[in-house]
Amino acid sequence: MLNQLDAIVIGAGIAGSSCALELARQGHKTVLLDRQTFPRHKTCGEFMSPETREMLDYLGVKPHSQGIMPTAMDKARIILPYGGEIEVPLPGHAAGISRYTLDQLLHESASKAGAEIVTDTVVTDIHKLDNDLYEVVTRQGGKPIRYQAKAVIGAYGTKRPRGMSSSNSREDEPVYVGVKSHYSGINVSSQVELYFCNGGYVGISTIENGLANAAAFLSLNAVQRLGKSVPEILEGASRTNTKLAERLAQGTVISGTEVSVAPVRLSDRPEPWSEFPHIGDAMLVIPPLCGDGMSVALRSSLLCARSTDEYLKGRISCSEWKSQYTEEARREFTQLLRRARTIQKLAFAKVNRLYPGLVRLMPGLATYLAKATRLSETRLIR
Ligand SMILES: Cc1cc2nc3c(=O)[nH]c(=O)nc-3n(C[C@H](O)[C@H](O)[C@H](O)COP(=O)(O)OP(=O)(O)OC[C@H]3O[C@@H](n4cnc5c(N)ncnc54)[C@H](O)[C@@H]3O)c2cc1C
Repeated sequence: MLNQLDAIVIGAGIAGSSCALELARQGHKTVLLDRQTFPRHKTCGEFMSPETREMLDYLGVKPHSQGIMPTAMDKARIILPYGGEIEVPLPGHAAGISRYTLDQLLHESASKAGAEIVTDTVVTDIHKLDNDLYEVVTRQGGKPIRYQAKAVIGAYGTKRPRGMSSSNSREDEPVYVGVKSHYSGINVSSQVELYFCNGGYVGISTIENGLANAAAFLSLNAVQRLGKSVPEILEGASRTNTKLAERLAQGTVISGTEVSVAPVRLSDRPEPWSEFPHIGDAMLVIPPLCGDGMSVALRSSLLCARSTDEYLKGRISCSEWKSQYTEEARREFTQLLRRARTIQKLAFAKVNRLYPGLVRLMPGLATYLAKATRLSETRLIR
C-alpha cells in the first residue's frame, strides 16, 4: 500500500506533533507517524520553561482553555547530598504539566488542523527516490506500509530508526538513564526541587491535578548499582540524599506512570540535517537539568516548519531548504548547548558541596546561571 503526501513527520512527541500542526495549518498534506499509542507517559521532568509556554501559546495550544491547570513555579531549590541548599528565583513564568496531557493536546490541535496521525507504526526505513521524493517504509500490525512525500522530518527523539547513525555524540561520552514516575501526596507547591545524588539528580515538581513528577537523570554506571525498576532506581538514588528520601516517603507512586529511557547520550553539537531535517531530541539532546528540552523541541520545530513550507511551496530549492534550516538551527542552539553542558558539568562536579557557600558570597551567581540556560529572546514567525 502506498500513500502520497507533501510531508511525513516521524515521531509524534512534542517536536513532531507541533511541526505537523504547523505544516497542516500551512495547507500541506501531512502525516505524523509514531511507534507508540497515545496518550502515553513519557520520561520527562515535565517542567515547562517560560519559552515553552510562550511557544505553545503561539501554536494556540492553551491547556487552561481545556480546563487543564498546569502548576505555576517561580523558584528552583537545589538540595545537595551533604545537606547544603541553594534557592534560585526562576526567570519568567514556568509551569508543570504532564507529557501525557500535553502531547495529547498537541495531537488534538494537529488533527484539527488536518494532519493525519498514525500511531502503533514503526518506521523501518527512509530513503530518497530518483524523482526527489522520500520514501518512508513502516510496519503497521505486521504489514509493511509505504509513504512517499516531498519532505520528511525526523522527530524520533533520542532513538534513531534502525540503520541511521548519529554523528553528534561521541562514543566516549558518558551514557545516562532517565526515569520518571508520578506521585500523589507530595506537595512541593510553586517550586522545582533538584536533589543531587550519586551519579546525577532527581527533580521533583508539581503537575496538573496536584500530582508530583519525580524524574531522575543518572549515569548508567550508577543505575547499574541501584536496581532495575523505576521505584528501585528512585529509591536507590535517595540513599545518597536523605532529604530526597524524606520527600519521596511522603508520596505514593501512581501505578502505570513509571517510564524510563536508556541509553541517553548528550549531544556535543546540534545535528539539524542528515538526508532530511531533524528536530527536537533527534537534532540535539541537551542536559535535562536546565529544563530546556521541550523549548528546543518547539523552537526547532517552528524553524523547520517555516523553511519546509517555503520548500514545499516551491519558493526555495532543496539545497536552500537544507542550508536555511541548518544555519538557523546552528545559530539558535550551539551556544545554548555549550552553556547547558558547562552548567551540568559544574553541577555534577565533586566540589558541588562548596556551591551554597559560593552563592552566599555572590548572591547574583545562581540567578545568572539560571538565565544562562534560557533561549535568547523568542522570535516567533508566522
Ligand atoms: C530524565 C529527563 C528529564 C527531562 N526533563 C525535562 C523537563 O523538565 N523539561 C524539558 O523541557 N525537557 C525535559 N527533558 C527533555 C525532554 O523530555 C525532551 O527534550 C523532549 O521530550 C524531546 O521531544 P521530542 O519530540 O524531540 O522527542 P520525544 O518526545 O521522545 O518523541 C519522539 C517520538 O518518536 C517516536 N519514535 C521513535 N522512533 C520511531 C520509529 N522508528 N518509528 C516511529 N516512531 C518513532 C517515539 O515513540 C516518540 O513518541 C527531560 C529529559 C529526560 C531524559
